[in-house]
Amino acid sequence: MPLLETENLVKRFGGVTATDDVSVSIESNERVSLIGPNGAGKSTLINLITRRLDPTEGEIRFNGESILGLKPHDVVQRGVSKSFQTASIFPQLPVIDNARIAALGAEHGAFRLNLLSRLDSYDEVDAVARETLQDVGLWAERETAAADLPYGDKRRLELGIALAAEPDLLLMDEPTAGMSPEETAATVELIENVKAERDLTFLLVEHDMEIVMNISDRIIVLDRGSVIAQGTPEEIRESERVQDAYLGG
Ligand code: ADP
Ligand code: MG
Repeated sequence: MPLLETENLVKRFGGVTATDDVSVSIESNERVSLIGPNGAGKSTLINLITRRLDPTEGEIRFNGESILGLKPHDVVQRGVSKSFQTASIFPQLPVIDNARIAALGAEHGAFRLNLLSRLDSYDEVDAVARETLQDVGLWAERETAAADLPYGDKRRLELGIALAAEPDLLLMDEPTAGMSPEETAATVELIENVKAERDLTFLLVEHDMEIVMNISDRIIVLDRGSVIAQGTPEEIRESERVQDAYLGG
């Protein structure tokens, strides 16, 4: 059974069909990239999976169960996190507290923190927060207020927050957007490290083909809302259809 599966997913905005009959699946421990020209429907597909958007038609299953009845925070509870959303940071709080809150949210569900009764849960939460900050290279900055971190570190914290929820599926929509070449390289290295250390399953939207070719087990190509190809990096590199539609011949 795939971890995530979309079936004939259609999303229309008025006359625009942003995703058109998209049926894709992701297996556990698979690293998948989603590519395609601007306006292809990549972000729409991600936002449908996180339940920030309602599909016009179709179905989304996670671990075999429909998630269409769920609210976005319920989807996080089920194990789907989206990274690189600045909104997930509490700027005034130290880095370590941001990681703890994310770990707590994962264990007990946001807004239900008062249910935390077992003392050893605090230790568990602390352990997850520490491990997370070590993974993303922010342990030394743990007492720094998130707002005072440099841009690149903030983005790492955002990834850390998503990871602290110990997601079964991590969604990333253009994580290197707005980054300098140095920050981009550092972010890719970070994702590579986390990928190596954890059994991370992800769906990554990324326009840099070199990154995509290096980081993915499989690539899905969207064009004008439709899946026009999918395959290994080698298969995609050699696909004429992808060359014509996307890679510019
Ligand atoms: P991508 O992320 O691949 O660049 P998007 O998913 O953002 O593409 O957009 C796909 C299409 O849907 C585009 O034509 C875009 O203009 C349209 N679209 C996306 N979001 C909205 C929205 N909230 N309202 C209206 N049209 C939208
Ligand atoms: Mg987009």
